[in-house]
Amino acid sequence: MSIGLLNKLVPQSVALDSVSGGKTEITSSDVAAALGFGNLSPAACNYGLAKYCASKLAANELMAFFNDIIKKQVKTEQWTQGLKSTEGLAQLMMLEGVYGVHCNKCKGRGIAVHCKGGRGISKDCEKCHGTGLGALSERRRAGIANISSSSWDRHWKLRLNSLLVCAYELEEQLHRHLKYQFHR
Ligand SMILES: [Zn+2]
Repeated sequence: MSIGLLNKLVPQSVALDSVSGGKTEITSSDVAAALGFGNLSPAACNYGLAKYCASKLAANELMAFFNDIIKKQVKTEQWTQGLKSTEGLAQLMMLEGVYGVHCNKCKGRGIAVHCKGGRGISKDCEKCHGTGLGALSERRRAGIANISSSSWDRHWKLRLNSLLVCAYELEEQLHRHLKYQFHR
């Protein structure tokens, strides 16, 4: 995996190339090794293994972790409206909070290429501002969560956003850790 690709996968772009010293490439095994140092929380470690090392096991564990968070919230906040199972919400957390949804305009590449004077000119995609990331429509989100569109719009749209914050916090933890590890 190149640093460019890793950066592409990192939404807030912590610019790992600027902290990696003379290294030009960060491979998924570098990431896996870096996760073993220090005291990263198990959830943040699973986040890293699932996202950058394509670990199915870590993805399953992370999804179980999200499921627990959702179940707790459902219980304490009495989120009952139209919810049949928390599985779909956990899947949305994986999809949007961990893997990231590709921008549908540039197909996740982050660049737009157009012709000018017979030459191909590339620039940052206007829709995603070069991040390559997109968003699911509310309709699609409701479908994945297996909740009716009306209930989704009225209750669940905002709730998903608050749930996603948990995933973003893990991501931040992980990025701080990786930056520190690759810096040494
Ligand atoms: Zn785009």
